[in-house]
Amino acid sequence: MRQLAQEINTRFNELGVEIPIEEIEERLDKMINKFKVPKEEARRSVVNYFLKLHDINRGEFYTGQSESPLVRISDITEDGKWLNVRARVVQLWDNNHESISQVGLMGDETGTSKFVVWDSAGVGPVEEGKSYLFKNVVVNEWNGKFELNVNKSSSLESINEDIEVGTATVEFRGAMVDIQAGSGLIKRCPHCNRALTKGACMEHGKVDGVYDLRIKAVMDDGNFVQDAILKRDQVEEITGLKLEDAIAMAADALDQGVVLEQMKNQLVGKYYRMSGSKVERYLLVDSIDPVFSYDKSGLDELIAASEVI
Ligand SMILES: [Zn+2]
Repeated sequence: MRQLAQEINTRFNELGVEIPIEEIEERLDKMINKFKVPKEEARRSVVNYFLKLHDINRGEFYTGQSESPLVRISDITEDGKWLNVRARVVQLWDNNHESISQVGLMGDETGTSKFVVWDSAGVGPVEEGKSYLFKNVVVNEWNGKFELNVNKSSSLESINEDIEVGTATVEFRGAMVDIQAGSGLIKRCPHCNRALTKGACMEHGKVDGVYDLRIKAVMDDGNFVQDAILKRDQVEEITGLKLEDAIAMAADALDQGVVLEQMKNQLVGKYYRMSGSKVERYLLVDSIDPVFSYDKSGLDELIAASEVI
């Protein structure tokens, strides 16, 4: 055990971190003798503990290489891996965590991933729509999904290139079972295009909003529930209600809510085939068609189709 502790101590020393041998030995002893963890497993676990504590790249510790591999987003499959990623910042999200400086969605040709820039990283800020080389970022698995963490071992390089963000097109067929709040006739911020809540933008405060149509639909194919977002074009297409008419309707009723009510009455319970790209839990719909007749056989086909997708 002493020898094992010595080895670990030496390797950390080479990386410029002094960890008392007794401290290493104590942790090893606890794992091996008290918890009966196999020796190699205990070693890995103790090393990981100190790597985390001192914010050292695991690859650097084991291989002596500080250079992380360049990885495409769709190839990110392992928790705790340190990587380099070339990606575009697709979206910045609200962040109310004070130790986090930015949070959002990044993407490359193969897909998208959530990312978190920790305040302690001292980098950024990144801008929406711009591309960067994210160096030495670490994968964190959370709720079965991978996210990339930019911490104080990481760095950012701005790259002068428009990375095309690719997402596979998916199809979904099912019944529209609900339309959520924030649908129908809405207003958007003229500066950042965010949907306004009670006339205010989260970022720009009270603004003179611009009208738009949107539907946040809940779709159900019998096996799976899918949140889908329809933009103005698709909303006009499936409801037959143009934006100008919706504005006039709301003005007549002195209530924006009448548009949503009409859409619910018209669409909920009907079947649709839609396709688009999947971002997080949403299907961003590019095209939608009603599935007109569905007798029993049609329903079977629908269920069969959904199992293939
Ligand atoms: Zn705004």
